[in-house]
Amino acid sequence: TGGRRCRRLEGETARAVLANVDTLLFDCDGVLWRGEAALSGAPAALGRLAAAGKRLCYVTNNSSRTRVAYTEKLRRLGFPPAEPRHVFGSAFCAARYLRQALPPGAAAYVLGGPALSAELEAAGIPHLGPGPAALPGPAPADWAQAPLEPAVRAVLVGFDEHFSYAKLCQALRYLLRGPDCLLVGTNRDNRLPLEGGSAIPGTGCLVKAVETAAEREAFIVGKPSRYIFDCVASEFDIDPARTIMVGDRLDTDILMGNTCGLTTLLTLTGVSTLEEVRGHQESDCPARQGLVPDYYVDSIADLLPALED
Ligand code: PLP
Ligand code: CA
Repeated sequence: TGGRRCRRLEGETARAVLANVDTLLFDCDGVLWRGEAALSGAPAALGRLAAAGKRLCYVTNNSSRTRVAYTEKLRRLGFPPAEPRHVFGSAFCAARYLRQALPPGAAAYVLGGPALSAELEAAGIPHLGPGPAALPGPAPADWAQAPLEPAVRAVLVGFDEHFSYAKLCQALRYLLRGPDCLLVGTNRDNRLPLEGGSAIPGTGCLVKAVETAAEREAFIVGKPSRYIFDCVASEFDIDPARTIMVGDRLDTDILMGNTCGLTTLLTLTGVSTLEEVRGHQESDCPARQGLVPDYYVDSIADLLPALED
């Protein structure tokens, strides 16, 4: 078929591709680490890339850490030093979006954790969570009497391990005030895989719940939305033709990279498999070509030989 090719990145091709690149965007979980453990060889590979003068940025859909927390995690796991401005987490990017989209003084109602609040704080966006006022009576119908904050002009949904029916009620009530109350989601990842084949529900489930209640679609900040790449391109001088997106998920990382005109590299250390890539290549559906990476490696440690002088 005439679909997009996907080749293993190795040998002379790897050297040539890396020589023609000045920026690499790394997805984090599944590419650099799994949970709290660095993937073997990943810190060394990034160390070599940094030593070769490449710009390294970190692009993650995980809204449960701040930019600063990611720089600390990178350091703790032995990666080359990163500054907060190199980190594009979906919490930071959501706060940036609201700063652009909301009128001055407008507030956000937030379903999310402390990192999301911290990034909103840093961006100067007033924000509130459910608060005790969300539960003024014993029955859900009473909750519709809870006071609403007049300044709220957006509902922001991120990873929230304390998501509840009461919060969903309150979010709906803000959104029912009208279309100028924005609905923003950090990302749509449906599941977060854990070791041993098990998984927990991702933020996409929570965004879907709010969208279903509100009967409207959220603006998504994280991959595969190009908004997260626009954040990178607004802070650095990025030439898409000289930029590689490295990720472990076809429907987020690779789709975003292809959409934005970047070279795309799939690592097989995370969610997606080569069988899925082959399935997309063989499909007659044109949209599925956007899910095919230009290259793949078993692990980013495989880039080490191409980075030796
Ligand atoms: N969202 C949450 C809450 C997560 O914990 C993770 C991974 O740990 C992700 C999203 C996916 O992150 P990434 O884009 O770095 O793979
Ligand atoms: Ca990932």
